Amino acid sequence: MMDRILVSACLLGSRVRYDGRAKTSDDAQLAAWRAEGRLVSFCPEVSGGLPIPRPPAEIEPGADGLAVLDGKARVLTPTGDNVSQYFIIGAYRALDAARAANAVLAILKESSPSCGSLHHYDGTFTGHTTPGEGVTTALLTREGIPVFSEDHIPDAATYLATLHS
Ligand code: SF4
Repeated sequence: MMDRILVSACLLGSRVRYDGRAKTSDDAQLAAWRAEGRLVSFCPEVSGGLPIPRPPAEIEPGADGLAVLDGKARVLTPTGDNVSQYFIIGAYRALDAARAANAVLAILKESSPSCGSLHHYDGTFTGHTTPGEGVTTALLTREGIPVFSEDHIPDAATYLATLHS
């Protein structure tokens, strides 16, 4: 079975972000993988049950995706609605989708409270980020599926090449 790659749907042109827009990547390697049929497009927040558009949401200050998964922190909207359950359901659905498709790694949108890998928005809704993983990234990583951001696609290619060498 071909090694597949789970990719944030918004990077592939789907208008699934909270503001109803996409964040389409024009990366050539991503396009080549897409032509090979390697990519699995997935949006954890929509799959978790959130609508498009939806209020922005951030992991509360001082926490990260792992803390949310473990029930030790929440994902909140600017008005304080607790939307953690949608993020957790979305993360588990992403894991299911990755396993079902034989995805051996993921390329997810940086800074998102779901998809961020090196950092995510810091919970103050001021546009600032803090180091740490989003909820889906935390789960995939914990389950042995490495996550790379759209800024580190060459690293993802290197990882893929090492799998069967
Ligand atoms: S949850 Fe991930 S895939 Fe969905 S819009 Fe946000 S960054 Fe994109």
